[in-house]
Amino acid sequence: MSEEIKPVNFVRQIIDDDIRTGRHQEIVTRFPPEPNGYLHIGHCKSIWLNFGIKDDYRGRCTLRFDDTNPLKESQKFASMIEEDIRWLGYEWTTLAHASDYFEQLYDYAVHLIREGLAFVDSQSSEQIREQRGTLTEPGTDSPFRTRAVEENLSLFKRMRNGEFADGEHVLRAKIDMASPNINLRDPVLYRIRHHAHQRTGDRWCIYPMYDFAHGQGDAIEGVTHSLCTLEFEDHRALYDWFIEHLPVPSRPRQIEFSRLNLNYTVMSKRLLTRLVELGHVDGWDDPRMPTISGLRRRGYTPASLRNFIASVGITRKPNVIEMGLLEKCVREDLDPTAPRAMAVLRPLKVVIENYPEGASEVIEAPRHPHKTDLGTRQLVFSREIFVERSDYLDDPPKGYFRLAPGREVRLRHAYVIRCTEVVRDEQGEPVELRCQYDPETGRGQAPDGRKVKGIIHWVSANHSVRAQVRLYDRLFSVPDPLSDRDRDFLEALNPHSLECLKECRLETSLGQADRDTRYQFERVGYFFQDAQSAPDALVFNRIVSLRDTWMRKSGQSPN
Ligand code: ATP
Ligand code: MG
Repeated sequence: MSEEIKPVNFVRQIIDDDIRTGRHQEIVTRFPPEPNGYLHIGHCKSIWLNFGIKDDYRGRCTLRFDDTNPLKESQKFASMIEEDIRWLGYEWTTLAHASDYFEQLYDYAVHLIREGLAFVDSQSSEQIREQRGTLTEPGTDSPFRTRAVEENLSLFKRMRNGEFADGEHVLRAKIDMASPNINLRDPVLYRIRHHAHQRTGDRWCIYPMYDFAHGQGDAIEGVTHSLCTLEFEDHRALYDWFIEHLPVPSRPRQIEFSRLNLNYTVMSKRLLTRLVELGHVDGWDDPRMPTISGLRRRGYTPASLRNFIASVGITRKPNVIEMGLLEKCVREDLDPTAPRAMAVLRPLKVVIENYPEGASEVIEAPRHPHKTDLGTRQLVFSREIFVERSDYLDDPPKGYFRLAPGREVRLRHAYVIRCTEVVRDEQGEPVELRCQYDPETGRGQAPDGRKVKGIIHWVSANHSVRAQVRLYDRLFSVPDPLSDRDRDFLEALNPHSLECLKECRLETSLGQADRDTRYQFERVGYFFQDAQSAPDALVFNRIVSLRDTWMRKSGQSPN
């Protein structure tokens, strides 16, 4: 799915050049997730880039699962990744797995051994690590580096046949232990892992390293532009070395771009896994998680995520994006179409003393202020209503135009009321307001000669439905939870990231709320039914508040 305005970025400029010069007729990209967790919003950037290019250039894009480490991967994660990509609005041309190429990769490894470019190392992983050297010092050759080709071939075959235990041997490339690029210091290509694989079962007990599988996978698939994040820049020389020394069918070009980073959250699957496993969140799809499934459950739309990535753009410059930009994108997507509704989150009862007991009236209100095709919904007005607790103050400061003793306010879509008396509990807290309404002020009519500035939302006490509303705040209380190296990132969790309001009252039209509709609760924010919501136990998630109030409130829990 392409956005309305075709994006311009340095990657697309390279592709345009390649087409213009005739280097490529068809553009082929791929998205290569490891099925060891759920996708997060960072992955969106790569998805948007790779699948967007496929769509706009009528090319091909493979979804290739990088399933080279059976210890951490699962089919469950793979299925969720597929669902997330489709939900974002993209479709792959082919579905592939690194494991589809295990036999071919094995043959490539044998090829390198025969050429004298790979050897079986029988040292422990610690010994190998110690010999690697540092950024300033060269590494040391393995004592097994000079093994004869025939011996290497035989040992590698026996590794495959399961004759050795995990860690007894590895296969390494023979490149240059003195290379300034550590990735070229005889990297490990294969390791022994007696562990069943989610797709190949017990067929293999040796598995290729990501670095050995990745570039060859690209070449086998005919990927023209292998787009990846900057941390792979230093690996490019290694990928190119493999491509140069192997009889691969094509020569992909790797282009790196900067990762997406967002403040007030973490983005690595390893850290997200910890949040899930330690129970700090309600699973991978907790609406506070930066995962696609979490954002989906919260109510974010696919278009808002695509627009967010489009506005961030693709560059090589590392940066951290404000969470506020993501929130702005979903507001902009929802405002033009989200049906309006009234919901009182922290109810305060109001009795309208001059309204007849037992009487009620129906008010037709537009579902949307501008989109007339959305029609109207029916509100019921009656003697007892609820207003928001924060819409009354005993002692209002200057500029507060809501309820206070003796003050008038307009009820949205209904009458002007005046507060005449306050009923209090033992602590002196207001529990009920007594008011008078002005019958002449219905349907937006102005009161005679009086100025009423404030408009507040309300629901009828006896004509409203109960619901639980979940308000979400940022998952972490600091912009960069990883900045303090002496502190575990878990200590930076925001203790107020979830507030559950259980006594909320919604206008009756929301009793039959459509599960797929995002609503604007007037004056409050945008809301979406949670996965746990049921007709007799409604649960709404706040997607985002109406305006960016967070900076102003500086860390307080939201209203
Ligand atoms: P993580 O560190 O979160 O586990 P990863 O890079 O290990 O991420 P993969 O499943 O290997 O996760 O990622 C698949 C693709 O998504 C890779 O091409 C990777 O470059 C890209 N990707 C991952 N995180 C981001 C990000 N924050 N911004 C942009 N692209 C990303
Ligand atoms: Mg990875």
